[in-house]
Amino acid sequence: MPAFSLEPDQLAWCAELRRQAAERLRPLAEKGEPGQVNRPLVAELGALGLLPRLFTSGALDLCLMRESLAYACTEAETALALQGLGAHPVHAHGTPEQRAHWLPRVGEGRAVAAFALSEPGAGSDAAALTLTAEPDGPSGWRLTGEKCWISNAPDADFYTVFARTTPGAGSRGVTAFLVPADRPGLTGTPLDMLSPHPIGTLDFDAVPVTTADLLGEPDRGFRVAMGTLNLFRPSVGAFAVGMAQAALDATLAHTAQRDAFGGKLRDLQSVSHQVAELALRTEAARLMVYAAATAYDEGAPDVPRRSAMAKLLATETAQYVVDQAVQLHGARALRRGHLLEHLYREVRAPRIYEGASEVQRGIIAKELYKELYKEPHAGPEADA
Ligand SMILES: Cc1cc2nc3c(=O)[nH]c(=O)nc-3n(C[C@H](O)[C@H](O)[C@H](O)COP(=O)(O)OP(=O)(O)OC[C@H]3O[C@@H](n4cnc5c(N)ncnc54)[C@H](O)[C@@H]3O)c2cc1C
Repeated sequence: MPAFSLEPDQLAWCAELRRQAAERLRPLAEKGEPGQVNRPLVAELGALGLLPRLFTSGALDLCLMRESLAYACTEAETALALQGLGAHPVHAHGTPEQRAHWLPRVGEGRAVAAFALSEPGAGSDAAALTLTAEPDGPSGWRLTGEKCWISNAPDADFYTVFARTTPGAGSRGVTAFLVPADRPGLTGTPLDMLSPHPIGTLDFDAVPVTTADLLGEPDRGFRVAMGTLNLFRPSVGAFAVGMAQAALDATLAHTAQRDAFGGKLRDLQSVSHQVAELALRTEAARLMVYAAATAYDEGAPDVPRRSAMAKLLATETAQYVVDQAVQLHGARALRRGHLLEHLYREVRAPRIYEGASEVQRGIIAKELYKELYKEPHAGPEADA
């Protein structure tokens, strides 16, 4: 295993994905309505064979897909990622019937998936969720409560919903359910957000579910959520790296041709050094994302720490790179419709969702101290 460079066939695949994103997905993304699921775009992701790969690829391939699509079409990237986030629990924990019904439809882009964990009172502290699953007969429950900030809501065709089955039990009393959008009592409202993909709230008014809708075992749903997030966290970093690379390439091209002070912008050393800094940080983030994804694929024991590091570094780096790219472009970057104006809006949310940056630091610190107390300490003072 290289430490770390991609194989020629992986590089060729990334180039092909960037081409498909630019030529086949970008035109469809441009026709989408703000705040609504772009179904032709999702269907094209299926026709290109990318959605089925969500269930056959490892974490590194997922990162390569997300990075390459993000480079040329963030809307396509996000549509792909959300299909994965919403449907991965079905792939990993669903019954044969759930898998047979939903996964082919998700893979063909005919069914839109969503992952419904967050609530008004439970974001970073997801184990505090209160959407209640009240027993209803011998093999059923009624779901009552609210979810918010749910990507693809309320347009999705089904939701992976995390509900409280045991009050007061924190993360141990949460159960995952697959809830089709047409269940009675389920409604939702779109939210207007500084993030180009559709997001909304979901209201559950005694929505009926049964054991046939379970994803995994009752009271074990938090593991379903965390297992999904461990897989997707490095790939959020990959999304960020794709955006950073797009901003960097645009800045290279702009500074090379922009006339200023009798030369080109790049002739100013402070400009060219800043471009070098952007390239340096983007590459460092990329390497950490690839390494974390590879650790996941190899079943390494330190996946939570590495996933958290990759997501944290890449999303913070992309914010810096896009902001500096705007600076080096000047006013034109802020014009509505400019690539950087779009990236400036896209790059902000990943520092908050799937665990805010501060939450990632918490995970890293927890894992470090866990290691310290697990093994006999062999640090410098042990030698003294
Ligand atoms: C664009 C977008 C899409 C989203 N899509 C989905 C989705 O599809 N499904 C879903 O379930 N949710 C989704 N979310 C919700 C997202 O997961 C939550 O916003 C996130 O978990 C943070 O929760 P919160 O917004 O309630 O912030 P809070 O939990 O209230 O935290 C606010 C801030 O407090 C600080 N903070 C919080 N905890 C800690 C800590 N432990 N240590 C130090 N500082 C801390 C951080 O700065 C944090 O940003 C989405 C959010 C956005 C913005």
